[in-house]
Amino acid sequence: MPSRSQTEKKKLHDFCMKIPKVELHAHLNGSISTDTLQKLSARKSSSDEKASDLAKLAKWKKLTENREQRSLEDCFEIFPLVHKLVDDAEAVAIATRDVIQEFAADNVKYLELRSSPKENPSTGLTRRTYIETVLKEIKQSNYESNGILTRFLLSIDRKVPLPVMGEVVKLAEEFHTSSEGLLVGLDLSGDPFTTNVSDIIPLLSRAKNAGLKLALHLAETDDRSAESLMLLQVPPDRIGHGTFIHPAAGGTDEMEELVNRLKIPIECCLTSNLISRTVKSYSEHHFKYWLNKNHPVVLCTDDKGVFSTNLSEEYRIAAETYNLQNDDLWRISNESINYIFADDATKTSLRDEWQICR
Ligand code: 5GP
Repeated sequence: MPSRSQTEKKKLHDFCMKIPKVELHAHLNGSISTDTLQKLSARKSSSDEKASDLAKLAKWKKLTENREQRSLEDCFEIFPLVHKLVDDAEAVAIATRDVIQEFAADNVKYLELRSSPKENPSTGLTRRTYIETVLKEIKQSNYESNGILTRFLLSIDRKVPLPVMGEVVKLAEEFHTSSEGLLVGLDLSGDPFTTNVSDIIPLLSRAKNAGLKLALHLAETDDRSAESLMLLQVPPDRIGHGTFIHPAAGGTDEMEELVNRLKIPIECCLTSNLISRTVKSYSEHHFKYWLNKNHPVVLCTDDKGVFSTNLSEEYRIAAETYNLQNDDLWRISNESINYIFADDATKTSLRDEWQICR
């Protein structure tokens, strides 16, 4: 593949920035930028522990900027440091507001944010107020029509006890009805090395029957075929990562056949998967495999803060790695509208917006 000149690289960078984009896999707390983390940290009283957490975050930032690879377990040790700074309603509001504005600045026109609702008795934060706070910020941002439309998915964190998962699903059902279309679905995420998913399946099925859309992390690591098949049989409306679905990647024929038959879109997060070492290199990422099969794929960031990226950068990396042309990038972005969890009227108006930007 011929390498691009500096001028071509600059042109590609500008094009990726300029095209309208859809972001469907963004964890709220993983998306918080360094600027916002500093703002959140300044609200807390100083302590040795805080200084050491910030030093760890700064060190982590450096290695992700250099695209150094770490294990998925190492990545999961970073999130609790962020969570400590987002432990009251005001911090949740600041984080939500800033993350939406940063995606808007990256020319993301439609965003689905996901987050697991947390509680903290010492600050009065409850799972309900967490959700209400995120929804209030989303509503305000949508109302201001600053170029981005946002929807919300509640995440079920795999490490919380089953009764808490049940509570999250109940809250999702309630806010699905009462949030005027803002809360659209559920995500299953969190450390894949925890939990027996067979316990969670009935909750997911219940949510689906109640009209909630499901985006499920599955086949994220290479030793999870049995549970991934169980999750695929629910079935999800979109797949998070899906790295090890097809047999050549370590999955199974049965999984691939199901994903093909149901045409379940796959949310692909190139840099996140590279840094967390679930793929060896960008060129070996499963994005290309599914794209070549004409299967629905969506380029996403996962955790733009934790993995030092943004959506334009992910498009640029895809173009450079897989030799995609501007028309290909535009088509990938435009087709992503098909897979959003919002209603048909929203899809139509986004498609119109894309045509205007062409
Ligand atoms: P939050 O739900 O707190 O807004 O976002 C951060 C959380 O999302 C993490 O603590 C983790 O549970 C989940 N998460 C973020 N990135 C990933 C990922 O790549 N894989 C999985 N399985 N979970 C993730």
